[in-house]
Amino acid sequence: MSDSKPKQLCVLCGERAATGGHGDHLPPQCIYPKPRPSNIAWNKVPACIPCNNAGSKDDEQFKLIIGISTGEFREDTQPVIDGLAGTIRNNKRLANQVLGKYKRGYGKRHGNKVLEPVVAIPFDRDAYERVVQRIVRGLYWQQSGVILHRDAEIHVVTPEPMEAGLGDHIKTLLRHSSRVELNGGTFVYKVFISDDGTSFWGLQFFEKHLVFAFAYPPEDDSQPAGLDSSLIEVKPRIVGET
Ligand SMILES: [Zn+2]
Repeated sequence: MSDSKPKQLCVLCGERAATGGHGDHLPPQCIYPKPRPSNIAWNKVPACIPCNNAGSKDDEQFKLIIGISTGEFREDTQPVIDGLAGTIRNNKRLANQVLGKYKRGYGKRHGNKVLEPVVAIPFDRDAYERVVQRIVRGLYWQQSGVILHRDAEIHVVTPEPMEAGLGDHIKTLLRHSSRVELNGGTFVYKVFISDDGTSFWGLQFFEKHLVFAFAYPPEDDSQPAGLDSSLIEVKPRIVGET
């Protein structure tokens, strides 16, 4: 029996058919230590296998930085620490990254007081940005019903001193947007989509780790030609609407 039913497009690349059941968890599920609560509706988007697989190595880096930056603020602190320890123990590259090459500062000076030594964990900024970009692509589709063009540029802005100005601008834009809570309230975002399709995002993990992003479509916003006509774009349910 041939399957004539059109297949849903992958909303991350817009080029291939999404796999049936799995989809991509956004934010990545690995930031939640096991066992994961079963009473939470984990946010998922339709995605193809290559997009899904391409993300898994990046997700590992993402888990690291989210775990380290939010660990002490979370209710699931011990599983987070155990999970990170396990991940690092089983992965030599990560172990070197975290334990081998960490930089120990002499402590931040605050007036005459020297505070605790500062330990800066180097992390893979590119991988981190790719994960944020994937999250933005998935959420964009959920919000607008449109797959973000594959050539759209997505800029990731962290609220560090260097980029604080830009972050503040995005924050101002988002002031009147409503919060959307996903994954049992552990992930919260705000978005503002302007008429030309440019979108501004504020994403927050575990009420602590904050990152901004903005995405704009290419000037020529026609989708690539030659898409397989057996692929369709299914409109998502709009998340956050009550
Ligand atoms: Zn894809």
